[in-house]
Amino acid sequence: MKKFDQKNVSGADQGRRRFLAGASTAIGAAALVGALPRQARADDLPHLSPTDATAQTLGYVEDATKADKAKFPTYVAGNTCANCNFYQGGAAAWGGCQLFPGKAVNAKGWCSAHAKKA
Ligand code: SF4
Repeated sequence: MKKFDQKNVSGADQGRRRFLAGASTAIGAAALVGALPRQARADDLPHLSPTDATAQTLGYVEDATKADKAKFPTYVAGNTCANCNFYQGGAAAWGGCQLFPGKAVNAKGWCSAHAKKA
């Protein structure tokens, strides 16, 4: 029968304490990042390239006036990322888009998934 090893139990307790301390630090950092304005974080995002495969499929352009109107007849003059329901950049020149997580789109851009803000 195995003897009770007080030394190993202490080591396990210490490991558990370290894990919990690290987890609470990570949760605190995540809460802090979540509290930052979305716009500030969008500034750090890499810009979506119009040559990105999904961007091409949706006809994304950084300048809405250059949208391929023949290929995307749903384009309506005046529609831009800035007035799209998926845009997360507020008044910033570049901002996040719910369709392109981790990338920033141009506020003056457009893609065929545009959904006008109500
Ligand atoms: Fe711009 Fe809207 Fe298309 Fe995103 S979904 S790229 S915000 S037009």
